[in-house]
Amino acid sequence: MSASSSSASWASSSTGFSEFCPRGTSPATASNSQERSMSKPLSIAEQAGIPGSPEFSDVESERRRRKIAVIGGYRILSKFGLDEGISGHITARDPEEPETFWTAPFGRHFSQVLPEELLHVASDGTVISGDGPLNRAAFVIHSKVHEARPDVIGAVHAHGLNGKAFSSLHCRLAPITQDACAFHEDHSIYEEYHGVALDEEEGIRIATALGSNKAVILTNHGHLTVGTSVESAVWWYVSMERSMQAELAARAAGDPVVLHEKIAAQTYEAVGTEKVGWFAYSTIIQKIAADEPEVFAR
Ligand SMILES: [Zn+2]
Repeated sequence: MSASSSSASWASSSTGFSEFCPRGTSPATASNSQERSMSKPLSIAEQAGIPGSPEFSDVESERRRRKIAVIGGYRILSKFGLDEGISGHITARDPEEPETFWTAPFGRHFSQVLPEELLHVASDGTVISGDGPLNRAAFVIHSKVHEARPDVIGAVHAHGLNGKAFSSLHCRLAPITQDACAFHEDHSIYEEYHGVALDEEEGIRIATALGSNKAVILTNHGHLTVGTSVESAVWWYVSMERSMQAELAARAAGDPVVLHEKIAAQTYEAVGTEKVGWFAYSTIIQKIAADEPEVFAR
């Protein structure tokens, strides 16, 4: 049964993927959660009574928590095979000086970097503390995203294989699986590519394309995700990569059925909230932390 011929209530009646592949017609910022219905169902995390991301009242404890989350995030990306040479960066906004952020030194392997090695970076690119070089692209992209989005604590970008391949299609993810619904109407496309992001104007364009969404697909490059915690931003990166892989595989195999808009929106509320993203990270990190207790018990 193809998407175009289906009359099931959960399947879209639209034909193919054209509505997800705007090719020059998408707005700079896509629609977002602010336009959603006020009568939201509870997410799967809320239904289970999950408390969500803790936040410490003293800045030193909160800073330490965020830095450990960055370290854990790098290890999660490595575990999922999303490290590739020198590409990729995770940042955490500093709780005391919110215009500054923390990230790993350029060239440090995702699986090896330690909390005390993280660079503290000012909004003008000055390294306030830490040794080692700063990745210029990490500064250009992440500084502008953090500046444009005061709600964002964590931001993640890497060169996952499926993210790269999917980005060349110039399409948004279609809601063809439950997991893909976490990004339904909550991601956008940056439909330009100007080479490696080395000038600040490129960072501004990427932040503008991200808008108020949790993710942006950087065409012919990869994807970038953000969160109100480092943990959720990391999980959205991994989950989006896997959803891209699923759509690439499904499209290669046949004619995937796209879920109906109403079902996709309902499923988003169950699996696409920040608390769900934080909870997913907290599950994955258990194994990694158990393998390196000396790093995560600090
Ligand atoms: Zn990149």
